[in-house]
Amino acid sequence: MKKFVYFFAQNNAEGSADMKNLLGGKGANLAEMARLGIPVPPGFTITTEVCTYFYQNNRTYPEGLRKEVEEGMRKIEEYMELKFGDPEKPLLVSVRSGARISMPGMMDTVLNLGLNQDTVRGLVKLSGDERFAYDCYRRFIQMYGDVVLGLKPEEKEQDPFEVLLEEKKKKKGVKFDMELSAEDLKELAEEFKQLIKDRKGIDFPEEPWEQLWGAIDAVFLSWNNKRAIEYRKINNIPDHWGTAVNVQAMVFGNMGEDSGTGVAFTRDPSTGENIFYGEYLLNAQGEDVVAGIRTPLPLSKVQKRDPSMISLEEAMPEVYRELLRIREILEKHYRDMQDIEFTIQRGKLFMLQTRTGKRTAQANVKIAVDMCKEGLIDKKEAVRRVKPEEIDQLLHPMIDPKAEVKVIGKGLPASPGAAKGKVVFSAEDAVKEGEKEEVILVRMETSPEDIAGMNIAKGILTSRGGMTSHAAVVARGMGKPCVVGCESIVVDYDKEEFRAGDITVKRGEVITIDGSTGRVILGPAPMVEPELKGEFAELMSWADEIRRLGVRTNADTPHDAQVARDFGAEGIGLCRTEHMFFAPDRIRAMREMIVAKDEEGRRKALEKLLPMQREDFTNIFRVMEGLPVIIRLLDPPLHEFLPQEDSAIKELADELGVEFEELKSKVESLRELNPMLGHRGCRLGITYPEITEMQARAIFEAASTVYKEGKKVIPEVMVPLVGDVKEFINQKKIIVRVAEEVMKREGVKIEYMVGTMIEIPRACLVADEIAREADFFSFGTNDLTQMGFGFSRDDVGKFVPYYIEKGLLSHDPFASLDQKGIGELMKIAIEKGKKAKPELEIGICGEHGGDPESIKFCHRVGMDYVSCSPYRVPVARLSAAHAVLEEE
Ligand code: PEP
Ligand code: MG
Repeated sequence: MKKFVYFFAQNNAEGSADMKNLLGGKGANLAEMARLGIPVPPGFTITTEVCTYFYQNNRTYPEGLRKEVEEGMRKIEEYMELKFGDPEKPLLVSVRSGARISMPGMMDTVLNLGLNQDTVRGLVKLSGDERFAYDCYRRFIQMYGDVVLGLKPEEKEQDPFEVLLEEKKKKKGVKFDMELSAEDLKELAEEFKQLIKDRKGIDFPEEPWEQLWGAIDAVFLSWNNKRAIEYRKINNIPDHWGTAVNVQAMVFGNMGEDSGTGVAFTRDPSTGENIFYGEYLLNAQGEDVVAGIRTPLPLSKVQKRDPSMISLEEAMPEVYRELLRIREILEKHYRDMQDIEFTIQRGKLFMLQTRTGKRTAQANVKIAVDMCKEGLIDKKEAVRRVKPEEIDQLLHPMIDPKAEVKVIGKGLPASPGAAKGKVVFSAEDAVKEGEKEEVILVRMETSPEDIAGMNIAKGILTSRGGMTSHAAVVARGMGKPCVVGCESIVVDYDKEEFRAGDITVKRGEVITIDGSTGRVILGPAPMVEPELKGEFAELMSWADEIRRLGVRTNADTPHDAQVARDFGAEGIGLCRTEHMFFAPDRIRAMREMIVAKDEEGRRKALEKLLPMQREDFTNIFRVMEGLPVIIRLLDPPLHEFLPQEDSAIKELADELGVEFEELKSKVESLRELNPMLGHRGCRLGITYPEITEMQARAIFEAASTVYKEGKKVIPEVMVPLVGDVKEFINQKKIIVRVAEEVMKREGVKIEYMVGTMIEIPRACLVADEIAREADFFSFGTNDLTQMGFGFSRDDVGKFVPYYIEKGLLSHDPFASLDQKGIGELMKIAIEKGKKAKPELEIGICGEHGGDPESIKFCHRVGMDYVSCSPYRVPVARLSAAHAVLEEE
């Protein structure tokens, strides 16, 4: 018979860490900790299969579940020497969610379950603390009322229980919850029950078993609440996974000053540093720390920012040592950084949770490299742990350290990177305005309802909360700059402003936050480009040891080429020469060439362009010394270089000394109905061979200059938009003739190649013919996707999002390669090409060359290299390594 319930207690567990799909992350890890002999309060996990059953069977449970739950409760009772519902020695339990992947704060939890009018008296006896017992009781009624009975307030409305609590404090003339007496809390509990009766027309369930099943229902139901659904959407978590439910004996962190609760990371989740990093609160219950309402204290002495704070290391040295011991055990066992939750009940430590800790990309890289050096994992595992997509985060600009900035506040550096934008004070405003412009979400603290706004904001700033507050954890998960606990700023939601000393920042004003240092800066701060160094560089070198695929870059300027080279590019896979003609001092000569009446006129204008192109190529060859550089001949339709407005045409006519009407009719004559399928690519060089001639001359003269400087140059000339071998031959002839001429004149001999883009579907089908003539192929997957699908690459915005939403496309084929269709064309081309010429060099230079999934495809089909924009080069190097690791 199928098993629905898995029991766990110290040194005795039915589940284990590898059962996450069935037991959820929390349940599997509780079982694993129990196996390792770590003190966990006993409990059991109801499997995710029950959740699936629940939703498929009209919210009912499979047969046999009830018995298994009862048996589980009996075992907990045995371990705890307490009894569920017993007025003398009552067992209390927590009921929590736990999906395969942690979804922090998205689903529901009920604590202190099992309390009623009778058992609360038992709790008084057991704890010897009446105030404590009634505080648990009123918290339980409140939580149960919110979560199970549906009293949780909608959006902006206040929690009705909190309203009663505030009233009570006012009436008693006190400020803090702590100041309410046992008697006050007892009254409050009754008022809470009355509230439930008034609002829901039912009595609060006194029967513990009824409470338990109510809570189990509620946790399963919370899998489908609005914010959980939203979170799943953002994080690509499938709806059908479902959640498990964990029922566990309560231990109390709020039994006085020798009790407490805390959360910790076994290493710093922001920097990855190998220090124990966490926060705790004395005399508090679990959620108090994560909620970000009371600012928690640091665990260790080294972590203290403020000398008046007392760390756990000082307050409870023995418990701290025990925690350190458990930290060791967990890291050795899981071989990864863990995020743990613990409770201290009257000096005794209990572990409530361990899971792989969420961290920044920077921390992830450092932890992987450090753990490899510590011998916990090998290089391959270190590389495997860092996802290509996430290192993108490390390649974003940071605030220029040399810039003078006006710092108006300093909080905790919760998630690194810098972000600037207009200030908004609510998640709704962030969603509304974030579509159009960059916004920074400023809140006192965030809660799960804010998730959509946090997702769209460029950065998040909170005035309260610690490194484990909701804002910090979620921002790190999103890879978004975040500063939390910036206590020196005062947020005023009503006035939509925050004050920092005597400065007031209103909604819509721009600030910059620095999630790496915690600084809050007035106005937009100047940024600098990131560098590849330290552990990041080391990890990349390990990726290089693993990968087979080469990585080149798409660069048109010496600056971009240098950036890419610094990031590890092994050559240029695409230098688009047309970009060089757009500079103001060049466009004129280009236009002159285009509007020239005849070849002679064109040649005259091309003479002016020649030295400019030559200089560009010379500088690029210098930067790329010793590495191959693919330079592509002119590609776009000529009208792109001409002005379209009458006023601009007039200006140009005056500049060139031609009649307005004459120029206008030239512009008109160049206008095409489908320019992307028109007079562009090699068709230009075929109709105007002097253009190809000039470009070839510039390339080989530049190569000769650099060669004579004693540097190695490897020019590769690429013909665009070839659909038939005759087109290629036509252009190759010109290139070879000019190359030989120049080299002869200059007295040099330089190895070079002449190849072609493969970007027209027909070229794929006749690739064997082309390969016999070409030295290399480079897939132009932008055009190949455009022509393969028949989707205009400039107009897809109108319908592709709709296609994706309706499930007609799984993703945008211009961002990630359509492996099935366009990929098939590529496979044909590779197969035919290699058959005709086994040594044919094959690469890709479309945008897909920087997309991890597409790169893996390129590896699988046996390409030689990918080429991508400079900032994607590290992503490509890592993706290429992952492609190899995925084969193992
Ligand atoms: C391509 O088509 O994929 C390509 C790289 O060329 P371009 O984007 O310049 O058309
Ligand atoms: Mg193209």
